[in-house]
Amino acid sequence: MPAKKKSPASANRNKPKFRRVLLKISGEVLGGETGGICPESVHDVAAQVREVAKLGVQIGVVVGGGNIFRGLQGSEKGIERVTGDQMGMLATCMNALVLREALRGGGVDATAWSAVEVPGVLPRYSVDDVRRYLASGGVAVLAGGTGNPYFTTDSAGALRAM
Ligand code: UDP
Repeated sequence: MPAKKKSPASANRNKPKFRRVLLKISGEVLGGETGGICPESVHDVAAQVREVAKLGVQIGVVVGGGNIFRGLQGSEKGIERVTGDQMGMLATCMNALVLREALRGGGVDATAWSAVEVPGVLPRYSVDDVRRYLASGGVAVLAGGTGNPYFTTDSAGALRAM
């Protein structure tokens, strides 16, 4: 029997609405119930990102770090704000590493960049490199927030989306 032709309406239903999206993942999501880095939660997030990537949608993921450290929490305990924020930005790098690994483990190309320098660990964020990578079909994981203290990764999410 010849295959039933899809109606234009059902073909549209399966077509992604967006060609490129920016996702902001808070550290707390990666911390799950346990806090810190929860492997099950990381794999769950990675699986959802993979599903969307497989539809052909280009995905950038800005990761937070609140499951590990926030500068404001540190200043309540006597850690100077800029130092605490630097620690928070490094926390986002740790999350980016584990999310990148989970994505790759599931068979999706993924690369992480950081807006703060962590030589030998992550390449420095470059909009040109990320754009090229997204166009090649890889998932771009973006760490280090804006690279500046006194900001949050929500600001980074807005900036990167722009
Ligand atoms: N941070 C920063 N500059 C940035 C982004 C983040 O100093 O541009 C620091 C800040 O201390 C922040 C921490 O990194 O509290 C973790 O980021 P955020 O609180 O946004 O993580 P989330 O709440 O999304 O897990």
